[in-house]
Amino acid sequence: NKITIAIDGFSSTGKSTLAKQLAKKLEYVYVDTGAMYRAVTLYAMQNGFVNEGHVDTKGLLNDLDKIQLKFVFNSDMGFAEMFLNGKNVEREIRTLDVSKNVSQVAEIKEVRSKLVSLQQDMGKDKGVVMDGRDIGTVVFPNAELKIFMTASPEKRAVRRYKELLDRGEVVKYEDILENVQKRDYIDSHRENSPLTKAKNAIEFDNSDMGLEQQFERIYEHTLR
Ligand code: C5P
Repeated sequence: NKITIAIDGFSSTGKSTLAKQLAKKLEYVYVDTGAMYRAVTLYAMQNGFVNEGHVDTKGLLNDLDKIQLKFVFNSDMGFAEMFLNGKNVEREIRTLDVSKNVSQVAEIKEVRSKLVSLQQDMGKDKGVVMDGRDIGTVVFPNAELKIFMTASPEKRAVRRYKELLDRGEVVKYEDILENVQKRDYIDSHRENSPLTKAKNAIEFDNSDMGLEQQFERIYEHTLR
């Protein structure tokens, strides 16, 4: 019996690593909803709708129907990559530049409704692990298993820092920490679907937990 698994939480808490592992083990589909907000942000940046952190909402909304998002499974990588209007943008959407603007784009109501309905469609047949900020509260309020992940901002910034370095991006730890904290703030204070823990979500602080241990703990819950 396939279920819907919703994984929400703050930035860089390891949601996607965990979600990927779960999806692989359970043979479920994994959907990284952050990638969708990031791709819309990249589009906005490429088309002049973002200037010094300010988003031209009207301009972006005018173009909203032109933004086509698609996940394409890459069997070498073992996960789906994001395509924006036919182009693979998997690398570009992970840069610090995109991270700096994404929360401002994600505040826009119409952007959220477009992405939420795409997400609901992708998960309509169950057997899905979806990670984001509003999955257990808005996208799939009836998900059978909801996880809410937290970790200290410093631990999270270190993880993100290492990730970006591994990808060859030149970044400063202080900038990453600032970005993680700023996104957390905007994401949890915005008017539209702010990040909150769903009532029936299992809260999970992984500040001091290795990947293996994390996975074991959460996998157990899928067996109930
Ligand atoms: O998960 P990730 O850190 O890649 O998400 C990037 C940003 O996209 C978040 O900081 C948040 O502003 C936005 N987001 C969202 N709702 C989701 C997923 C991501 O608002 N379901």
